[in-house]
Parts: sequence; structure tokens; C-alpha cells
Amino acid sequence: MIDSHVHLNRHEFGDEAGEVVARARAAGVTAFLNVGYDLQTSRASLALAEQYADVWATVGIHPHDALLLADEEGRLTDDGRRRLEELEALSRHPKVVAIGEIGLDFFRDLSPRPAQHAALAAQLELAARRDLPVVFHVRDAWEPMLAFVDQVGLPPRRGVLHAFSGDNRAVDWALERGFRLGIGGVVTYRQSTLPGMVARAGCDPLLLETDAPWLPPVPHRGQRNEPAWLGLVLDTVAGILQMEPGEVERRTDASFTALFRPGKAITP
Ligand SMILES: [Zn+2]
Repeated sequence: MIDSHVHLNRHEFGDEAGEVVARARAAGVTAFLNVGYDLQTSRASLALAEQYADVWATVGIHPHDALLLADEEGRLTDDGRRRLEELEALSRHPKVVAIGEIGLDFFRDLSPRPAQHAALAAQLELAARRDLPVVFHVRDAWEPMLAFVDQVGLPPRRGVLHAFSGDNRAVDWALERGFRLGIGGVVTYRQSTLPGMVARAGCDPLLLETDAPWLPPVPHRGQRNEPAWLGLVLDTVAGILQMEPGEVERRTDASFTALFRPGKAITP
């Protein structure tokens, strides 16, 4: 199985990334997509991808850090243009398989909304220019996010709605347009509405993810999440879909490979 969204470079892992990767491999994880969210973590993701054959990278700027690219009125800044150029340069590396995580976050609202829209638009253009899929982060902004992406134009290679938390309408939007849904530990939580969304989507649009070190699955809530626990997500999804875990693994792996085209280094 493939962890389609992880942050192995986070300080929560200290210098243990090698052990974390080894534990996950022992638990059956065959590939990792390490996701950047600013310039520093984009560079760190690429460094991890260069170090480990089964790690791939994304580069991008999170909506929390939209002011790195645009001002409060939503105009790209000179520094922002330089940063976009660096992202573009990083994205030329063969192990960079997506632009992300990018999107809108109106839950924490850590940056002004016009800046978030401008940063998203600029990075959607980058994804189109580089012919790469996108990793979307959306929180408390589903309606504006989906409307905005429809308005500015879908990224040609589409992408994944990471840590999916939308409703039926968001599921249908994604399915109609060929986006995948990133499903992680939240699907194991008792109060989660996510099982209903998983059932509505069916297996093939889904990608498994941990978002480690965040969002640990049951029974590890409150602990630092690990990609080694991805099997708990797989088993829960298989239970919801009334499918064999091995079948869900095979089909979500195939969906990952179809979307991100990570080359031949994924070992079976
Ligand atoms: Zn993330």
C-alpha cells in the first residue's frame, strides 16, 4: 500500500525519518509521497526523495503561507514571483510528482483570503505549465474552493483532495471532474462522516494517506502518527466498501500510480 500524503521531514520525527520509513516498509508500505507546504519543506521533501528510492516529493506553498506569494489584496509580490520560480525549478526534478499542498483554509484563516486565492491561482498555473497533478488542502472552504477551481480552470492532470472532509456535493464534484479523494485516519473516528463519503465514492477514486505526524488512526489518537499505521486506514476503508483489504490495496495503489506516474521504482 502507498502512503499518498506524509511529512517525514517534520520536527516531530526528529532524526528518526529512516526508522519511520523502515517501520512502514515492514508494515507493507511500498511508497511514500512526502508533501511540501512552503519552500523549506519543499526542498526537504526533495532531499528525502533523493535519499530514499521509495519516497517521492511534492513542492508547493500552503494557504497558511499565502503571503509568501501575494500581498493582502491578492497581488503577486516580487518575492512571491522569485519563490514561484524556485518552486518551478524544484519541480523539474524527476522525483517531484505534484504541486502541493495548495488550496484554501478558512478554518484557521492564517492568511488573508485574497492572498490565498492568488497563491492558489498562481500554483494552479504552475501545475498546468509543468504538466503535474496537484495536492489540494481544503478546510472549511469547500464551496469557495470548488467554485474557484471551476472558475480559473481545472489543472490538466487533476489531483487529489487531501484529508478529504467534504460533503456529498464535494464527492460528486471530485468524481465528475476526475479528482481523487485522500482518505486518512479520520475515517477510523467514531463520529466521522467520512465512511459515508467513502461508500458514495467507491474504491477507485480513493487514495490512502496518513498525513503523519498528524491525524493518527484509532487506536493511536493523541500519539504522533506514523506511516506504519496506514494499514488501519486500509482495513477501515475495506470494511466500509465490504471488500478484501488486498483488493483495496491493489486498486488504491493503481490509482496513485495513474495520478502521479512515479516511475518504476515502486517495489511490489
Ligand atoms: Zn499535509
